[in-house]
Amino acid sequence: MSTEAADVVLYNANVLTMNRRRLRAELVAARDGEIIRVGTNDDLALFKGRSKLIDCEGKTVIPGFNDAHIHIMAYASNLLSIDCSPSSVTSISDIREEIRQQAERTPRGTWIKGTGYNEFYLAEHRHPNRHDLDQAAPYHPVRLTQRSLHACVLNSRGLALAGISIETPDPPGGLVDREMNTGEPSGLLFGMNSYINEQVIPPLSKEELRRGVRLANQSFLSSGITSVQDATVRNGFDQWQTFLRFKKSEELAPRVSMMVGLHALADLTERGLYYSYGDSGLRLGAVKFILDETSGRLNPSQEELNEDVLRAHQAGFQVSIHAVEENTVEAAAAALEHCLHLNPRADHRHRLEHCSVCPPPLLRRLKAIRAVVVTQPAFIYYSGERYLSDVSEAQLPWLYRTRSFLKSGLKPAASSDCPVAPCNPLVGLYAAVTRRAESGQALSPKEAISPEEVLRMYTLAGAYASFEERLKGSIEVGKLADVVILSADPTVVSPEELKEIRVEKTIIGGEVVWER
Ligand SMILES: [Zn+2]
Repeated sequence: MSTEAADVVLYNANVLTMNRRRLRAELVAARDGEIIRVGTNDDLALFKGRSKLIDCEGKTVIPGFNDAHIHIMAYASNLLSIDCSPSSVTSISDIREEIRQQAERTPRGTWIKGTGYNEFYLAEHRHPNRHDLDQAAPYHPVRLTQRSLHACVLNSRGLALAGISIETPDPPGGLVDREMNTGEPSGLLFGMNSYINEQVIPPLSKEELRRGVRLANQSFLSSGITSVQDATVRNGFDQWQTFLRFKKSEELAPRVSMMVGLHALADLTERGLYYSYGDSGLRLGAVKFILDETSGRLNPSQEELNEDVLRAHQAGFQVSIHAVEENTVEAAAAALEHCLHLNPRADHRHRLEHCSVCPPPLLRRLKAIRAVVVTQPAFIYYSGERYLSDVSEAQLPWLYRTRSFLKSGLKPAASSDCPVAPCNPLVGLYAAVTRRAESGQALSPKEAISPEEVLRMYTLAGAYASFEERLKGSIEVGKLADVVILSADPTVVSPEELKEIRVEKTIIGGEVVWER
């Protein structure tokens, strides 16, 4: 028998291909970055002697995870900040102590940054305020961001540098929280995070950014993530160049699809960059919109949204709308209906990011326009306890639905929204299957789906959500050789064990880029 050369051959594997026609296999071979064979252990003879062989010892091989909605640079910056998430701190006193220690190591006047606090899980059950932070660091400006990134807290030095005083009116779309008796800013700011980040705090130095991106890269690879879709609304040509640099230097190994803000569209088009421009390492994705009602009314207004969405659509782009609350999901649906009515396009795959509350009438509308939903199963795990206490009884059944989305053919894709939540897809897998919060409480268990269905959402559906399903998302001949070896088979272990599954090896383009 003649032999063939492959760059790598995984054998003795329990391969879950995600290809419905042939779900299981034992061997995967790759050459020049692509899968050239999916077969049985008998095929090993074809490659022996001329290929690098990896004996998987019966372990499970799946397509690499595709995180369909994350924020790479925010994550990189977070990894350089104090971690104030519930896994690290349990109270405002803990946060104060962390800041105090950091202040001792940091030159006076330099910003101290903390991220990920969740007031619901703090012992004091409130947001930290300027006084808490002043006590810990009177000589440094301090900024803490809340988990959802919609709120942040500054200390007095930070407020002064941001020019926020008792006289400052609420900016459009933002809210300056005030102390009841004095009217002074309490330090807590809503909807002003990007202003503080972009206009007040000096950007990371090149070296800091590099350190952060390397940390983020390690975190993605050790989580088995081989593709990410960056959903940052600020993205434009500059960010494209930055990603390009990190791809060239191989400091950012996962494949990146970069969404952009509408502000960048004219510039990108002028430079010859169009939707899906680039290659399998870095490509241009959807135009991202953020729709919220922080200030009590829709921002942007329905009319503005309709117009802007139409503009992106007519420029040939996929559209991606951040919509969390029922009202915003409805406005997003209305904008897409408007745009597709005026300018129909069969395979548009316009996306709703989060679509957190989606009652049946809205679901029907989304189905009618064939929208794609990008959901965050792990939010159920990390924030489920808060949802159960804050979300109305009437809305709970419509919260972070998955079974209903799948049944309606919305082709939901899974994501972490990292750094809003940690990026580990196996926690998302656990949450989508069990619908359990970290506290153990269940959240609308009727929306639970099988491990195989969740895996599909994290792989093939992720690729579909960025028009890349012909390139990746399943283990099939001709697709990119992006695969992950897991310590156990998610379709076999008990639901409780799902989040304990470990990534053993991460392979991108046939190359082992990470191993335990
Ligand atoms: Zn996001």
